[in-house]
Formats: sequence, structure tokens, C-alpha cells
Amino acid sequence: MKKLFLLFSLLGCLCAGGVSQAQNVRFKKCFEDYTLRIDYHRVGNRQHDTVYVVGVERIKGWAGSLTQLIDPFDNGDYRVVVCDGASGQPLYSRGYNSLFHEYRDTPQGKDSIACFEEVLRLPWPKKRVEICFQKRGEDQQYYTQYYYSFSPDSALDKLVRESWVRVESPVRLQYKGDSHKKIDVVIVPEGYGPADTAKMMRDMATFCDYLLGQEPFSSRRADFNVWGVRLTGEASGITDPKRGIQVNSLVGASYNTFGSDRYLMTTRLFKLHVAIGSTPCDHIIIMANSTTYGGGAIYNFYAMSSLNEMAYMVLPHELGHSIGGLADEYVDELLSYGDMHSLTVEPTEPNITTLVDFASKWAAMLPEGCAVPTPFDKSVPRTENGPLGVYEGAGYHSKGIYRPTMHCMMRDYAPFCPVCARRLNDIFDLYTK
Ligand SMILES: [Zn+2]
Repeated sequence: MKKLFLLFSLLGCLCAGGVSQAQNVRFKKCFEDYTLRIDYHRVGNRQHDTVYVVGVERIKGWAGSLTQLIDPFDNGDYRVVVCDGASGQPLYSRGYNSLFHEYRDTPQGKDSIACFEEVLRLPWPKKRVEICFQKRGEDQQYYTQYYYSFSPDSALDKLVRESWVRVESPVRLQYKGDSHKKIDVVIVPEGYGPADTAKMMRDMATFCDYLLGQEPFSSRRADFNVWGVRLTGEASGITDPKRGIQVNSLVGASYNTFGSDRYLMTTRLFKLHVAIGSTPCDHIIIMANSTTYGGGAIYNFYAMSSLNEMAYMVLPHELGHSIGGLADEYVDELLSYGDMHSLTVEPTEPNITTLVDFASKWAAMLPEGCAVPTPFDKSVPRTENGPLGVYEGAGYHSKGIYRPTMHCMMRDYAPFCPVCARRLNDIFDLYTK
């Protein structure tokens, strides 16, 4: 018992700080070329939440890098750290966000307890590991809230595949090489009925073009493998409660998430990952078969867009969230409730600042003598970023939060600003080196 306590103390110490500076271990020493998928529930409200593992699955092939195992960015409200079971050494880590974290910031989430599905895809360990589910505290540090001890030798708690799923080989929309050195993006069609197969194939090719159509994605085109899942559901269309539309679709996507008309999301993460199956997967795009404007995305979770005429811009914006971990740079006072962005701490996203710790953001990129806040120049068209500065109004707040340029993909569908583009390129490198 004492030994166990000592181990947990050691893990707590290692996991709470210093993980992002940890040395990358040799993949082959610690992991096999398989994926460990963990399906779990996150249950709670704004005061408290915890996780319960529902099932694990062994999937052939690991899509991530073999050398970049430790996440250097410390972005995200949550983080998973896989530690060696004997020494406590961090072997793998990733930061991420979840839909639950947005729920807890709604008025209902203040008191009412809810249960959300979440899924992690990790490299398959060769030996026993402690998987630390971490959550950011008020001081912005990560704290372990739950340990899951996993031994690859023990009998596995297999998740039963749901019988409605017929996993076929995925479509190669673009294949550029070994998944260990590429960013593998999987497009999951949602709201396509039995008669929609031809349309689904056309739409997947279009979404692949949208994914790679904007900088810095277009310059890094050769770093992406893009896959399409060939699955249709019972009926066509997307659930839209305000318009009285209910569809029993593949992964249960719906408009009007948390009362916002255009916020198109799903809570059915288990179904989503069962549909992806063994397709090499670093990131997920859900392609929603509806022409109503809408989308949504969460960092290292998924991105979703409808087929609206603005989708060629909506999708890159959502990928800024899901791949880049970027914040919205626009102002929306309705969304600035709760403590989504506290003005007294530095936000973790790279493209907004409260000036509490601006040196950790884009201060070094600013031109000499740049005024803070930088005055807005209305003559700059919305299709251009304008000069780099510190412009007030971002992260939904009109006051107290600042963004790098007047216009950006994360604000009003201008090109990604230099700060956002830099982070996206740094993240792309995590998968390709
Ligand atoms: Zn930006």
C-alpha cells in the first residue's frame, strides 16, 4: 500500500508539471505500432467532474509520429499523460478540449450534472502504464484527476462493436505516404441516406479540397493523408430542433447545440470512433449533409461543417480550433458568459491575450514601437489581415482580450493571421517529424 502511495505521489509530481519539457522516448522501446482506443464518460458540472472508462480497444496501426510523443504546447483544458508503470516517466502526452468543458460554462452546467462521451487514441504500450487524465486548475497548471492503470498483458475489456456498423475500407482522397510522418485526417459523412452514396463521394472530394485550400494548409498539402469513411445511415439530413427536423443519422449531429442556432455538434463520440474503425486517424472532420449554415470544433476532438456555400471558409476556421487549438478572435457578448475566458489569467490559446503574460504570446513578433492596444484602421479590407499588433476585442469579449491582427480566419474568414499560421505550422510538424 505504501509503495502504491509513493508511486502515485511520484506520478502526481511528474504529471503536474514539467511534462511538456520531458524528453521523447524511443517509440519502439515503449510502444507497439497499434492504437489503444479508450472510450470513457466525463460526468459532472462546473464544480466538479470525473471520468469513467467504459471500454478499450486494440486497433492495428498507430497514425501519430514515432518521435514527437510529448506535447510541447500545453494547450487545452485537459491533458492525457501516459507514464511508465514502474518509473513514472512520461512516455506520451497530448492536450485537448472537450464539449463537456463548454457545457460546464452554460447556465445549466453550473449545477446540473451531465454525462458526455469522450475518446482517446493513444499508442499501444508494451508494458504496464499509468494513464493520467489531467484537468487544468484555476492556476492554469494541470492536475491529475484520475489514473487508469493499463496492462497490455491482461484480458482486455473489449468494447462490443455495434451491429449497425459495416466498416468498409476507407477511401483514399489523398495519400502522400507513411502515416507516421503524415497528418492523417478522416472525413466522416453524416446525414447521408442509403440513396446518397454518389453525392457522399462527390462531397468528400469537395471537403478534401476545402481542407487543403487555405494557407498554411495549402503549402503543407504534401504532409496530409486524407481518408473518407464509406458509411451511410438510415435517412438524409441533419437534426435541427428549431426547424422541427429530427434525423436518425449516423453519429447524431445536431444544430442548436447549447441553444446556438449555427452550433452544429454531436455528443456521440463512441459511434463516431466506431465508424472510423482502423482508418489511420490524427484528426476528424464530420461532413454534415445539410445546406444550412453551421459548424463547430474542439481542439484534438473533431471539426464539423455543413455543406453551406460558406463551407470553404467554415471548415478551415473549424480546423483552426480542432487542429491548431486556436481561439475565436471575434466578439460575441452572448457567448462571453461564465468563466470561458477569465480576464485575470493568460488564456492558453496562442492567438489571444489578456496581456497578463503577453511575452508568452506574439510579443516578440511585434514591430518596434507598436502601440498597445493598436488602433483599428477601417481602410483595411476584410480580406486582409492588416498590420500585426494587439487589437482589443477577441475570445467573445469586446474588452480586456486582444488579438494579433484586425482580420483573421478565426475572426471573419480573412486568411489566417501570422500568429495563427505559425501555430498551425508548428502543430503540423508534430505529425511529420
Ligand atoms: Zn489569428
